[in-house]
Amino acid sequence: MNRRNFLGQSALLGAGTLVSANALLAATRPAKEKLGIALVGLGYYSTDVLAPALQLTEKCYLAGIVTSSPDKAENWKKKYNIPEKNVYNYQNFDSIANNPDIDVVYVVLPPSLHREYVVRAAKAGKHVFCEKPMAPSVVDCQAMIKACKDNKVQLAIGYRCQHDPNIQAYMKVAKEKKFGKVQMITSAAGYFDGRSNHWKQKKALGGGVMGDMGVYALQGARLATGEEPVNVMAWASTTRPEIYKEVEETMMFMLEFPSGARAACHTSFGINMNHLIVNYEKGWLKMEPHSGYGGNKGSMSDGTIIDFPLKSQQAKQMDDDCMALMNKTVLIVPGEEGLRDIRVVEAIYRSVQQGGKLVKI
Ligand code: NAD
Repeated sequence: MNRRNFLGQSALLGAGTLVSANALLAATRPAKEKLGIALVGLGYYSTDVLAPALQLTEKCYLAGIVTSSPDKAENWKKKYNIPEKNVYNYQNFDSIANNPDIDVVYVVLPPSLHREYVVRAAKAGKHVFCEKPMAPSVVDCQAMIKACKDNKVQLAIGYRCQHDPNIQAYMKVAKEKKFGKVQMITSAAGYFDGRSNHWKQKKALGGGVMGDMGVYALQGARLATGEEPVNVMAWASTTRPEIYKEVEETMMFMLEFPSGARAACHTSFGINMNHLIVNYEKGWLKMEPHSGYGGNKGSMSDGTIIDFPLKSQQAKQMDDDCMALMNKTVLIVPGEEGLRDIRVVEAIYRSVQQGGKLVKI
């Protein structure tokens, strides 16, 4: 079916079927060498990290932007040679459905907005990349996964570390059980955040250190065991109650895995920390830094050094994901993986509410 026939036929369809019509239209597009990505939300991560990374990618390029700021739109158009027709705001965003330049919508907004924009992108028939944490709740994550399935588009979560060969190195140790069973894990992810009025400090926008940095400590434990935790105990605290009024500044949580492995995890907006230590039956592995943008490295008790060079973690992430979309292969970090973390995060908050009691996940 060519595009004209398709449009002719879709006009005969009722409004209720428009969603799947967009998905079908996406399926009829000719194959491209590079996919066009539209960034939604031009804050720190899009501006300082993703847009520069998109200058290094081989399978995708910065094709469009979604912003509420006309000034930002002008700057980005000039800087990255983005045509006016590929610039959207939050109100007219849904018309991105009619733009064949855009193959992927990358949602880089505060977490409480992820669900809305992922669902809208899916309904527009676009594949979606969504930043971590996937969303504030399991219910949100499930709705996002369903919207993408219903509209026959793929959903990838921006867990850049899983695309980093240095992190993949310890995932391989877990898979091959190189040193036997995991006994104990210590993982930590935090930095000093000096801001006092940011979404990271606001509950309604999905703030709190657990979703922001805690997921790196959690991922360390999950990826190093290759298992899903079954029990958790957690404690939240703050040293700056005047700033962290609604959400936690620091979270400590202990995880128990089906094999009996245990993890002690720390995350904070007040402490700089970035490491993973895994003790196995017959050896150990240490990573520091563990979840940085680059330069993650480590060593193992048998003398193995983990230190793979990487030009840009984010460029690798987006190229891996776009290659999977083009080749119709499995994504490295699909929506289901983002959901797994949020299920644990919800249990962590339940434990905090119960004064650190052991909670089933
Ligand atoms: P930011 O505050 O710098 O930018 C957020 C953007 O969202 C801004 O452009 C803001 O204008 C826009 N926005 C739209 N509606 C908004 C609203 N109602 N309230 C507040 N902002 C609104 O945040 P950021 O650091 O760029 O983070 C954005 C997302 O990227 C988050 O999900 C964050 O966790 C993620 N992130 C991921 C990494 C990573 O390493 N994967 C690193 C940084 C941030």
